[in-house]
Amino acid sequence: MNICSFCFNRSDRENRVITGPGVTICESCIKEASNIIIASDVKRQEKTYADQLKDLPVQELLSGLEEIHSGVQIAQERLVAWVAELRKRDVSWAKIAEILGVTRQTAWEKFASATRASR
Ligand SMILES: [Zn+2]
Repeated sequence: MNICSFCFNRSDRENRVITGPGVTICESCIKEASNIIIASDVKRQEKTYADQLKDLPVQELLSGLEEIHSGVQIAQERLVAWVAELRKRDVSWAKIAEILGVTRQTAWEKFASATRASR
């Protein structure tokens, strides 16, 4: 009988275990550990990006800012176009809001006039 050394659950068909010298770990503990590692990697990458900016001269930061700003504008235009297309296909504001992670009201306020203009 294999019991996970971390959560003490028994292994079964849905939750298999891997056994090493003196320890056993189940699939759900592996998934949890993996999520922790992924989350900490994301944090590390964010920190690294901010650190990269610290090394850039002001002139490069300014031209980079211009580039990023234009990228954001393009992304914003595309976002409006995608929302407009979804609305044309009668996808609800509620569904769009859910995907954007905002309230239905916020999605409507943000996109309603812009999507009407693009019709
Ligand atoms: Zn476990």
